[in-house]
Amino acid sequence: MRKKTLPVHAGNRPHESRGAVKPPIFMTSTFVFEDYAEAVRFFEAEFKEADALGGEDYVYSRIGHPNLTIAEERLAQIEGAEACLMFNSGMAAITTSLLALLRAGDKVLFSEPVYGGTEHFLHHILPEKGISVEGFPAGTVPDDLTGVQLVYLETPANPTNIMTDIVAVSERRKGMGHLAPFLVVDNTFLGPMFQSPLDLGADLVLYSATKFLSGHSDLIAGAALGKGHAMSIIKGHRSILGTQMNPFDAWLLSRSMETLHVRTLEQQTIARELSIFIDGRPEAKEVSYPGLSIGDQRDVYMKNCKGDGSMISFLLEDGESVERFIGGLSLIKLGVSLGGTESLVQHPWHMTHAGVPSERKIKLGVHEGLVRLSVGIEDVADLKEDLKNGFDSIRHKS
Ligand code: PLP
Repeated sequence: MRKKTLPVHAGNRPHESRGAVKPPIFMTSTFVFEDYAEAVRFFEAEFKEADALGGEDYVYSRIGHPNLTIAEERLAQIEGAEACLMFNSGMAAITTSLLALLRAGDKVLFSEPVYGGTEHFLHHILPEKGISVEGFPAGTVPDDLTGVQLVYLETPANPTNIMTDIVAVSERRKGMGHLAPFLVVDNTFLGPMFQSPLDLGADLVLYSATKFLSGHSDLIAGAALGKGHAMSIIKGHRSILGTQMNPFDAWLLSRSMETLHVRTLEQQTIARELSIFIDGRPEAKEVSYPGLSIGDQRDVYMKNCKGDGSMISFLLEDGESVERFIGGLSLIKLGVSLGGTESLVQHPWHMTHAGVPSERKIKLGVHEGLVRLSVGIEDVADLKEDLKNGFDSIRHKS
């Protein structure tokens, strides 16, 4: 199946659901066995490590259920990954995966800034478990990976949109043999249509599926994709931590992924036009959008990205200008999520990154004047008009 066909059919087998063209929602906590012998056979197989990623037999919905399998097979095929695991949030995907892969005494290097929740987990929770954590600026490549067990990239970074070179970071591991760090990439901002971290050298790709994968701002979900032993270990942790996705959300997500390419390509078309419009406004400086990248960022874009996506960040003069700009918008809503059909704006300084100390925010490029825009699928003329009203409101300072 080709790229546009896959999301509609992958994972779904109507004959297993009495011929229903769409799968039912399997609202069940547990599954019963035909007889005693079948139950014994099942548990024997389940406890063999080699079988840890499981087949299609179900026993209890915390371990796995049919809607989870459908969603996971679908995303695995879209991403071109050997295996996929779905979680009840993006943070559940991140925390379960890192807790599964790291041990006390390990060292993590991560590109910064990252999403506020990830920042909290890396800075406050991992060190409490004896894992040391060090940041490096997004857009750069660490010189030395000696003694590092895991490198974590969020690219493009939330909220600055700065891209880090996955290929270059992966290549920096060359010659390190079994001491090479495991490479994890949070690909939430571009999604599977516009960046494929596993093809660029990453070992694991993570998503907040709450964003573009679900695309309608109506559920919270996460995903991890990769291969082999690492995925088995993460699955084992998910079963014990209980961070799996529930049947209804898995069903909703499977349905939403059918239109992933249609939505994200349309969002990209609109965002490309808006990024040029914003760049042309005298109030906006440093418009950060993959399609407008220049210099080193252009090189990273050319090497890593297959598209531009629909997240735009830009700088206004100060916090007061941001307040006026947002006050002048009426169509574009003020909210912290992204990737949905509706356009959303947010002020990272006082919203998603409010918990990060001010000096640190400035060091990370999260300035008081920074605005983050997630572009939806509304008519581009309406969005332009709304943005124009926002920009005009800045100039009407009293
Ligand atoms: N990663 C990125 C880049 C995000 O933007 C977010 C949330 O905004 C997350 C992870 C966390 O995902 P969730 O809110 O689904 O837990």
